[in-house]
Amino acid sequence: MDSRFSPKKSFPQELMGYLHSLRTRVHRYRRYGLLPEGRAIRLHAHRGSGLRCVICGEPVLSTEPEIVLEYEPDAELVPESPTFRFHHLCHVIWLTEAPPQRDRARRKVSD
Ligand SMILES: [Zn+2]
Repeated sequence: MDSRFSPKKSFPQELMGYLHSLRTRVHRYRRYGLLPEGRAIRLHAHRGSGLRCVICGEPVLSTEPEIVLEYEPDAELVPESPTFRFHHLCHVIWLTEAPPQRDRARRKVSD
């Protein structure tokens, strides 16, 4: 048996590659303004609806949790609240890849 190709060794690297591709998507989508900024007015977590995740584009299956963020409607665009669906993993990556909060910087008055 050739241990160089054992699944135990290749899996973490595949996983790292997948996580990297998700991070790259987050950065690209954010640059194009495809991802919401600011604070969501509501966050739901429930069983997957089968609709597509905004980050990876894959459907969120009923066997996995789905994170749904609801945002304040933009009166100039659509009357309903914009919603964004995420896989749990994609949501975590989106959160960890978030740009530094401007509000937090503004609160620092001692400088
Ligand atoms: Zn996803």
